[in-house]
Amino acid sequence: AANTPPAPPNAAREVLQRVWGYDDFRGDQAAVVDELIAGRDALVLMPTGGGKSLCYQVPSLVREGTGVVISPLIALMADQVDALSALGVRAGFLNSTQLPNERAATEQALLAGELDLLYLAPERLLVPETQRLLDNARIALFAIDEAHCVSQWGHDFRPDYLRLSMLHERWPGVPRVALTATATDATRREIATRLELENARHFVADFDRPNITYRIVAKDSPQQQLLAFLQAEHAGDSGIVYCLSRASVEKTAAFLESKGIPALPYHAGLDRQVRAANQSRFLREDGLVMVATIAFGMGIDKPDVRFVAHLDLPKSVEGYYQETGRAGRDGQPSTAWLTYGLADVVQQRKMIATGDGDAAHQRNLGRHLDAMLALCETVTCRREQLLAYFGQPGTGPCGNCDTCLEPPKTWDGTIPAQKLLSTVVRLDRRGQRYGSGHLIDILLGRETERVVKLGHTDLTTFGIGTELDERGWRGVVRQLLSAGLLDVEGDYGMLGLTEASGTVLRGERQVAMRTEPERRKTRSGSGG
Ligand code: ADP
Ligand code: ZN
Repeated sequence: AANTPPAPPNAAREVLQRVWGYDDFRGDQAAVVDELIAGRDALVLMPTGGGKSLCYQVPSLVREGTGVVISPLIALMADQVDALSALGVRAGFLNSTQLPNERAATEQALLAGELDLLYLAPERLLVPETQRLLDNARIALFAIDEAHCVSQWGHDFRPDYLRLSMLHERWPGVPRVALTATATDATRREIATRLELENARHFVADFDRPNITYRIVAKDSPQQQLLAFLQAEHAGDSGIVYCLSRASVEKTAAFLESKGIPALPYHAGLDRQVRAANQSRFLREDGLVMVATIAFGMGIDKPDVRFVAHLDLPKSVEGYYQETGRAGRDGQPSTAWLTYGLADVVQQRKMIATGDGDAAHQRNLGRHLDAMLALCETVTCRREQLLAYFGQPGTGPCGNCDTCLEPPKTWDGTIPAQKLLSTVVRLDRRGQRYGSGHLIDILLGRETERVVKLGHTDLTTFGIGTELDERGWRGVVRQLLSAGLLDVEGDYGMLGLTEASGTVLRGERQVAMRTEPERRKTRSGSGG
């Protein structure tokens, strides 16, 4: 590759038009392509749907030799290769899902110089045999897709990615491009360091998706709220509804169907053929709602998805942005709608506390969740906060998110916060921990069987919280959890103090809370 003859000017555009039938490059694509064709390294940060693939596919065709794409998405490789083959691009892949004779055929094609693109799983590349194979091939470039997988603090860490710095040690003349849709400054720096891309030019796309309206609402009866949202704003539209569990995917899809909204389920527990059939119906037909776990969506390219709804809280802002980014790729107005409540916060904190991994890993997951919660509870522009998170601070209010359109009211929640926290303290002194339901019973002065049996009517905080109702208190607990002023411990969602709790108890810190919106009247009770 070091002695590739210079490409004629406009060779890249010619390839783009001839092979893909597109008129022109978008955004940073042209500049990235030029950089690689000239044999230099690049680091590309572009949102999902931004067009990262062409950044390495086009130069792979223009430069002599094969473009080698390192990708962790093994399940998508066959599809990617099929899509390229349909365009007349000679592509192949090497991964663990392959039969030996398929692998041998791909290796032959590579050595014979008959491949434009080769997709490789990172673990394949690290096998000495594969490295010897590449030694004997002519390589146009290396593309490291989903490059944020190298980040130990990211949400998709892959240990194999840490060893990819070997690419330029073993093949120093071959240009490399790392691509990701995760653009926090910290991740970007980590990618550059770990992949030894110090000399790479950085291309950072605008992450704003102005046609998406962001809305996050308090969870009351999620299915009914979803139904009301769809009927009022997206009747007859295509969209995706994300749920955390397979069971809630099934339930929600059946619920929508029962209300006359055509909906299909999608999760990893479904038969492969059912999954494939549902996916292709969603892509082909109009007005279908795909109810799915986050397993659905990677590599899905449907331009007219009008809404993405989350019935459960995403684990990170990165995940939220990626999932909501599947709406409105055609640039038409679209909605990202999320409903979340106290139970989401408790459940996720609990999952982190009881999950695998060491303390550092748990802290990391906790930080990701905190950022997501901060986005949920913010009283300022959601988009501004989202863009600041992705390294574009100071954009100002957008005028196209719920907090801009209907600025939330806040109230001084310091005193209720103190009442709740001091109840936790008092129980803690007795060596006891309880969940939110029991604490609220105490504050409301309810003489439930459990409260009486445990002697909690004796607590000085018993019955001192009647200024709020049950729902108001749940809002307080949720916001304290979100702000890190309360913690979830153990398996049962028991609440405990954090280091920061003391500042509130001692009156050193005021706690501003969002006013919970009026509960919407629903026709037939609770949906979940
Ligand atoms: P990403 O990998 O960044 O999520 P893709 O590479 O899958 O995005 O591209 C998203 C969609 O945009 C694809 O359908 C792709 O064909 C289309 N696309 C990308 N670049 C262009 C372009 N220059 N002109 C027209 N369509 C494009
Ligand atoms: Zn806004």
